[in-house]
Amino acid sequence: MSILYQHARAFGLDLTPVQLTQFENYYHLLVAWNEKFNLTTLTDYTAVQLKHFLDSLSAAPLLLAGQTDGKKLMDVGAGAGFPGMALAIAFPALRVTLLEATGKKARFLDTVARELPLENVTAAHGRAEEFARLPQERAAYDYVTARAVAEMRTLAEYTLPFARVGGCVIAYKAVDAERETADAQRAIETLGGRVREIVRVKLADLDDVRHLVVIDKIAPTPKVYPRAGGAPKNHPL
Ligand code: SAM
Repeated sequence: MSILYQHARAFGLDLTPVQLTQFENYYHLLVAWNEKFNLTTLTDYTAVQLKHFLDSLSAAPLLLAGQTDGKKLMDVGAGAGFPGMALAIAFPALRVTLLEATGKKARFLDTVARELPLENVTAAHGRAEEFARLPQERAAYDYVTARAVAEMRTLAEYTLPFARVGGCVIAYKAVDAERETADAQRAIETLGGRVREIVRVKLADLDDVRHLVVIDKIAPTPKVYPRAGGAPKNHPL
């Protein structure tokens, strides 16, 4: 039994042989592309399964508690596809958009989606501050995820505009989740969010503690946000 299958069960997932093969093929594409482009520092299959795939899947209980069929998820700053691609494999009925500012990473994401294949994935090349101003993208998502993209005040401005009222943001954070979230309280409220909970995540076979900061979208984001020209990063709310 693979470690991925075994540990994913702890998140309420019963991955099928087809899904496990998709994860394996994703891994092979990741290491192949990684020889030319820097996509990940982890290349050992066990480490990728634990620190990328399973870490990504740690939000599964939150998705399982709601509904995923036909729901839309936006992953901001997807990089090599974490957590968005992994969630798309685990939840084939979820419609997933992977947004990435770097062209070569966006091309990698598109290649993975076509080769596995995953019909529920769209890879988009762009910046969150610009993409969230497009009428078809704004307030269009039930779930918005992000891992290792920005500090929480900046991240709130990158993510909350994409969530519809009634939807939520799930921010993957490491040790400083409590402090970062407390510092971002005003930014989150300004953008129409309210912190629901900070879930402590313990990954199998790893000692470090991770967190999922869940922010409900309770009111529309005012039109002036997200601000353009690097303001969310350089002058966080
Ligand atoms: N989420 C992935 C992960 O956890 O492995 C990638 C993390 S990587 C440290 C951060 C990624 O966010 C980079 O690929 C970067 O290009 C992207 N990024 C940063 N700011 C962004 C923005 N404003 N809009 C879209 N992508 C952004």
